[in-house]
Amino acid sequence: MLYDTLPGGRVRCNICQWRCVINPGKMGACRMRVNRGGKLYTMNYGEVSSIAVDHIEKKPVFHFYPGSYALSLGGWGCNFHCRDCQNWEIACVDIPETSRYISPERQVELARENGCRGIAWTYNEPTVWWEYTLDSARLARENGLYTVYVTNGYITPEALDAIGPYLDVFRVDIKGFSDKFYRDLANIPHREGILEVTRRAQEKWHMHVEVVTNIVPTMNDDDEQLRGIAAWTRDSLGELTPWHVTRFYPAYKLKHLPPTPVATLEKAYRIGKEAGLKFVYLGNVPGHDYENTRCYSCGRTIVHRVGYETDVRGLDGSKCRFCGAELNFTTSREAS
Ligand code: SF4
Repeated sequence: MLYDTLPGGRVRCNICQWRCVINPGKMGACRMRVNRGGKLYTMNYGEVSSIAVDHIEKKPVFHFYPGSYALSLGGWGCNFHCRDCQNWEIACVDIPETSRYISPERQVELARENGCRGIAWTYNEPTVWWEYTLDSARLARENGLYTVYVTNGYITPEALDAIGPYLDVFRVDIKGFSDKFYRDLANIPHREGILEVTRRAQEKWHMHVEVVTNIVPTMNDDDEQLRGIAAWTRDSLGELTPWHVTRFYPAYKLKHLPPTPVATLEKAYRIGKEAGLKFVYLGNVPGHDYENTRCYSCGRTIVHRVGYETDVRGLDGSKCRFCGAELNFTTSREAS
């Protein structure tokens, strides 16, 4: 849907910020779009690699329909090639014979049949099958289901604007706070576009935004980067925006690094709190106290969590039911 034709039969894809210029017969950086005779085709529409019924907390999304289930789908390929990828078996391959097609209509049926309140595109980058998520999100909305993008934020503003009316949640990775880190981890030259499009998702489309930083030892665990992410989140998205600092486990091309020490995650928690963020959460440390939501005003436990099990104790709509403080929760579509 979003491409320019260029001289010599070339095309420019405008789905993600790579804006690949693709020669006839060649593919874009995600290897999911091909130039055939001067037209750009997607090869992965509806081609599903993984499907599951997940707690929304697994995304992780903590402040949107807490305790609900989301039908979660992943496709193939990615526009990033992160050295710590946990899902490289689906993100760093071409579409295999085992892929199965699931139509947008079937997605909605499956969500309903499995008691899900919404649909999440996750496991790999949803932007690389953007047309499919657009059709699906539109249909999901018509059928009263919420919609979630679990994304690296490298979508272009125009692709975001097309899907914006149908997307409820933008769960974005802010992986680090220097271009050097993005280059080292994912071969991405600049991070500024990710920050701009995240602001746009919230300001223009009023999406619920939650930020995740996977903390990789020796790469993005320094105070400077963590302070940068925390301050940017506070200033650009607001102090009530949840920030998840998650534990890295050795994977893919970073198997030589150790898992993130819990003390490092606790340091990140403190940095987030000192920056003024009201909701900082530890991820991949089941049972840690910093998985829970406490009211910043009265100190009572609002949501108790152990892993993905959620006990909502103190919510009244978006507010604390004990003291009335605004907690930035969405519990019904009217509030979103
Ligand atoms: S979606 Fe794929 S082809 Fe299009 S700009 Fe991004 S990486 Fe390139």
